[in-house]
Amino acid sequence: MKIREEVKNIKPYNPGKDRGGIKLNKNESPFSLPKELKNEILAALKDVSFNRYPESTGAGLREKLAAFHGLEKDNVVVGSGSDQLISYSVKLFSGKGAIVTPPTFSMYRFYSEVSGLKVFPVPLNPEFDLQIEKIKSAIKDAAIVFLCSPNNPTGNTFKRDSIVEILNTGTAVVLDEAYGEFSGVSHMDLIQDYENLLVLRTFSKAFGLAGARIGYALGGKKIIDYLLRVKPPYNLNSISLRIAEMMLENYEIVQERVEFIKSERSRIYRRFEEVCYPSQANFLLMDINAGDYFRERGISVRTFTGRLEDKIRITIGTKKENDLLIDSLKDYTEKRDDY
Ligand code: PMP
Repeated sequence: MKIREEVKNIKPYNPGKDRGGIKLNKNESPFSLPKELKNEILAALKDVSFNRYPESTGAGLREKLAAFHGLEKDNVVVGSGSDQLISYSVKLFSGKGAIVTPPTFSMYRFYSEVSGLKVFPVPLNPEFDLQIEKIKSAIKDAAIVFLCSPNNPTGNTFKRDSIVEILNTGTAVVLDEAYGEFSGVSHMDLIQDYENLLVLRTFSKAFGLAGARIGYALGGKKIIDYLLRVKPPYNLNSISLRIAEMMLENYEIVQERVEFIKSERSRIYRRFEEVCYPSQANFLLMDINAGDYFRERGISVRTFTGRLEDKIRITIGTKKENDLLIDSLKDYTEKRDDY
């Protein structure tokens, strides 16, 4: 057999070490579904025809998402997580490579490389902001630009003007708003004016459904039509489709939880401002090299290699988890010279 060179060069995805009892390393929701809703969902699943394929594009959920965002079904594609939609988006556009802006979500690089695109990294500046001029210089050879706002793992958002400036080049832009609910800001309205824009959202974060694997892309009708053409049929299963529909009908639960996460985020940020980067997401990047310290205390946090190797990212958890985190952080910051 002959393995493609691109595949030989791929390093396996490293989701980080996952040993501790308290999981603050994957930007998940700390909350399971409320018991009543879980029971309602389980009851509704009894009516799912397990022997039948779902509608091939998940039309029912697309309709509901469109109504939820004031759009039309033809503006929406659903996927098994937004990850899967990243993997489809790299198949759509011609050009030599993908622009990524590290430090950012590693899957943009991963799927670009798998699909044979070169990766043109344009690192964020020291304030973790976009280097617009450098992006614009790299863009002539690019098939696609990936932007993540709020950015994982830095937590900051990018200015609308910067996003618009990149869109104005005409190159395809994938704007990943996986954490958009926690910032309260979205630029999805730009799909009305920019046919080169795809906005990605997910049910894995604010909706607390990482295990059900549901994501969606929003865009103008033309780009969505092409995305539907490259997407395999039935890419989202009947069970997840139904769960997502029911979760949308109960959006007030999501809102309540987002408010809780935001208030816990500011509680932790205010207490440790000197080592914390401001965040608009459900996590905080911290300027402490304390991965092992937390792991020893049964708390999993995200550590990095490269530019962020002396930092950690912690996901906002439940009140109890955050209290424990705060106690450990207090201890660490007071005695950091001893560690
Ligand atoms: N985008 C970003 C920025 C993420 O951080 C993640 C998950 N960590 C994803 C997309 C993928 O989410 P999912 O596939 O669960 O929708």
